[in-house]
Amino acid sequence: MNVIGKLPFVIATRLSQQIRNMSLVRSLAFVNNQWVPASSGETFEVTNPANGQVLGQVPDMDVDDTEQAVNVAFEAFKTWEHTTAKERSVLLRKWYNLLEDNKDEIARIMTAESGKPLSEAAGEVAYANGFIDWFSEEARRIPGEIVASPTQTKEMMMIRRPIGVAALITPWNFPAAMITRKAGAALAAGCTCVIKPAEDTPLTALAMADLAAKAGIPKGVINVVTCSRKKAAEVGRVLCTSPQVAGLSFTGSTNVGKLLYEQCASTVKRVSLELGGNAPYIVFESADLEAAVKGTIACKFRNCGQTCVSANRLFIQESIFDQFVAKLEEAVKGLKVGDGAAAGVTQGPLINDAQATKVKQLVEDAVKKGAKVHLGGKPVSEMGTRFFQPTIISDVDHSMRVFNEEIFGPVAVCIP
Ligand code: ADP
Repeated sequence: MNVIGKLPFVIATRLSQQIRNMSLVRSLAFVNNQWVPASSGETFEVTNPANGQVLGQVPDMDVDDTEQAVNVAFEAFKTWEHTTAKERSVLLRKWYNLLEDNKDEIARIMTAESGKPLSEAAGEVAYANGFIDWFSEEARRIPGEIVASPTQTKEMMMIRRPIGVAALITPWNFPAAMITRKAGAALAAGCTCVIKPAEDTPLTALAMADLAAKAGIPKGVINVVTCSRKKAAEVGRVLCTSPQVAGLSFTGSTNVGKLLYEQCASTVKRVSLELGGNAPYIVFESADLEAAVKGTIACKFRNCGQTCVSANRLFIQESIFDQFVAKLEEAVKGLKVGDGAAAGVTQGPLINDAQATKVKQLVEDAVKKGAKVHLGGKPVSEMGTRFFQPTIISDVDHSMRVFNEEIFGPVAVCIP
């Protein structure tokens, strides 16, 4: 069903004031270059984690909708795979140009649905667009190889071919970059794709898909299936088990990654997983402490600690431990917590209540077992449930959850 003509009405009736005037905000999913509802008619809400306001609704798609999108991508592959490298390069360049022209609006949509400060959202959009820029050029460079044959009657040539439909399942912490990084590569190679964005941040994905269509990327080459957390498992299962899908690229939690890996086995898909971590950050006494503290702020407190490379445990050489912690405290006091859309804010909310509860429980567990809180340690109560004080703790041991689990929050765990 093509509902493009009805779209302004849908937007005007359903979107919150905050994003109503934005031209790229969509409330339908994107399949075969058409804006479509879920076949069941079901929707789910997208909320702003800073204030809990409902930003809008998007389709809560199910197994049937996903199969339909996979079919469309499979059909589109039959022609897309035969486009020349130059044609794909030109189309990716057009998409990149439109992404650049609209970078401010994409950043504002991202801040509204993910809570990350506007300056960080703008940074992510630049980073995200860079992947399309890069792949528009790399699309031209997919060479093969001719190798020496062991017999005179045979010639040996290696050529690179697109694998088919790529399923792309992405997280909410980088709502744009995790999509362009995967989709840019897929399209450059001649693959088509079905994107399932995270339920917290579908609006950024849909805005980028809108620009892909405007760039002239043919129908069915990029499809975006939106669904709630409730439906993620069934939608994911279709993407992993469909014989029409050739590969899966996933960025997200380790548990879900393991499940998808297992599900992809039945059809022996190419699988590419980027999962969680427990990143150590090590400071020796020879370090420039100012630089080390600056680095800690960047890699512990960026995106409120919600990145897969966030420092999870800071190991500080004993001789400089107190000095480092004192300097870090000073720097952390300079962080400003608030709505990411407000000027000067460096620390937005955590993405949702589940994540906020987890971070609170991790700190409580550490404190109960003897950790010392130098700064913060609690939710910012006057701001609702999702804001957490930038926190520094020490006296941490192996029995504590903060030592063993990915925190994904603004909690610096300092260990001598
Ligand atoms: P997080 O806990 O940070 O949200 P997840 O791994 O749960 O990380 O989510 C990353 C992506 O994986 C999201 O798009 C989410 O909807 C999706 N996802 C979650 N559970 C499943 C599942 N069982 N099958 C497929 N995708 C899933």
